[in-house]
Amino acid sequence: MLCARCVSGNRVEFPSEIAIHFSGRENLAKPHVFVFSKVIVRLDCGFSRVAVAETDLRLLREGIKSSSAA
Ligand SMILES: [Zn+2]
Repeated sequence: MLCARCVSGNRVEFPSEIAIHFSGRENLAKPHVFVFSKVIVRLDCGFSRVAVAETDLRLLREGIKSSSAA
C-alpha cells in the first residue's frame, strides 16, 4: 500500500510501546495509558500509523469521560 502523503511504498512495521497522556492542566496527575502496538513507519516521510487495541481504547474513553465530568 502506498503512503497517502508521499506515495512511497517504503514502510516498516515496528513493535512499540506508546504512553498516551490526557491533555490539559486538569489531567496532569492522571496516569497515562500505555499502548503496546505495532507501528507502521513510512521511512521516506515519517508518516506513521498505529492501531489501538479495544482494551486500550476503553481506557482512553474512560479517561476522557472522567476529564469532562470534572
Ligand atoms: Zn509518506
